[in-house]
Amino acid sequence: MNWYGGPPRFGGGGGGGGGGNRGGPSGKFGNPGERLRKKHWNLDELPKFQKNFYQEHPDVTHRSPQEIEQYRRNKEVTVKGRDCPKPMIKFNEASFPSYVMDMIVKQNFTDPTPIQSQGWPVALSGKDMVGIAQTGSGKTLAYLLPAIVHIQHQPFLEHGDGPICLVLAPTRELAQQVQQVAAEYGRASRLKSTCIYGGAPKGPQIRDLERGVEICIATPGRLIDFLECNKTNLRRCTYLVLDEADRMLDMGFEPQIRKIVDQIRPDRQTLMWSATWPKEVRQLAEDFLKDYVQINIGALQLSANHNILQIVDVCNDMEKEDKLIRLLEEIMSEKENKTIIFVETKRRCDELTRRMRRDGWPAMGIHGDKSQQERDWLITFLTFPPRIPIWQNVEDVKFVINYDYPNSSEDYIHRIGRTARSQKTGTAYTFFTPNNMKQAGDLISVLREANQAINPKLIQMAEDRGGKIGTASFQQAHPRLAKWLP
Ligand code: ADP
Ligand code: MG
Repeated sequence: MNWYGGPPRFGGGGGGGGGGNRGGPSGKFGNPGERLRKKHWNLDELPKFQKNFYQEHPDVTHRSPQEIEQYRRNKEVTVKGRDCPKPMIKFNEASFPSYVMDMIVKQNFTDPTPIQSQGWPVALSGKDMVGIAQTGSGKTLAYLLPAIVHIQHQPFLEHGDGPICLVLAPTRELAQQVQQVAAEYGRASRLKSTCIYGGAPKGPQIRDLERGVEICIATPGRLIDFLECNKTNLRRCTYLVLDEADRMLDMGFEPQIRKIVDQIRPDRQTLMWSATWPKEVRQLAEDFLKDYVQINIGALQLSANHNILQIVDVCNDMEKEDKLIRLLEEIMSEKENKTIIFVETKRRCDELTRRMRRDGWPAMGIHGDKSQQERDWLITFLTFPPRIPIWQNVEDVKFVINYDYPNSSEDYIHRIGRTARSQKTGTAYTFFTPNNMKQAGDLISVLREANQAINPKLIQMAEDRGGKIGTASFQQAHPRLAKWLP
């Protein structure tokens, strides 16, 4: 099939542009996406579609500007951009289809999270948006539920049509987590979704695509591969989500993302999500989004709680496991010893949990596959970041261990902030390895701001990198936050 041809309803779609893009071996050994041409769109020729479905609920309408202001202040919601709708504070104000509401009830969610409250009205009104909120703040549903509404208002998929909603995610693991949620919420309405990622056989993924899916969650490389050999297409794609944009850029996916976005009609709705807002992510937003609303959740001026004693152990990756065991032995001799350990991957979380349980530690791993009950009965937690909602009550945590250093010092601050809640004190231990070197300067600024003693090895590491850390203020070390400073 020719790339530019289309099913009847979308006949003539795609406008001019390069020639057909026939099948053939994937570009695995060449430049990825080499054979994908940038498309030139003629909007007059494209079939029209709707993207604004938002009707403000009367309860929202009746809320006074003061109440809105107060809600935003309490929840640390900041908005920028033109005509940002009011947040919706209760689930019913979103007027989602009943099967979506049933699912929310089934999950025992009581209220939307702040990114959902403010993100839903924006997403439902068809606007481009950026949502910045830390890991675990509920971003997935913030874009998936409006996606369901969006899809429901589009013509049915026809034979040969690609997805209507495309979600790009950095890793297989994250893509699968999103797809699990898409499957749960889409089931009742028969929305089909699939997950496309590298490192797994292509056959089943291709079969899903051929069968037709409204929602496709993909890592960039494998998707490009399939686009190049026409296993799918983005002609019907009108709702584009870039999830974990900061991580995708960290992982070097920018050229692939650009290739993919070039294949999507420019009047699509684009939603970008990120835990942090560095320069590169800003640039991507400028390039891909039009007249967008930006939502930021969290304190604008981020700093570590001064009631936390922060200890940084500069070591090698291979030393970590033994160090952890020794550390835990000490911690367990304390009277109050509830501890959270953060690790980088789900696999490491499982491995460490297994090893610790074998050694008799009362350890519990938390990530997407674990049930709520399981979360509650043990005293030591090992967590893999994406699955600990900030509102989940893990009370009285005395120790936080960063077994793996997080992606950014913002995440570091949020993690250690699990301890020393409400005027109590706590201790944070962090294993910092040469792999984390890039972040040494940032971490030093955080420690310095909180008047902590700083490990000379950490300073050495930052200096070896050529960073001038001696005078850097916290704000200077956080250019990505500067935008939000008053
Ligand atoms: P993020 O993408 O921001 O890291 P997720 O979307 O993965 O966060 O959500 C983290 C967890 O929070 C998930 O387990 C999800 O089911 C749960 N969650 C989402 N929305 C709500 C809500 N409104 N109330 C309670 N829990 C929620
Ligand atoms: Mg997420």
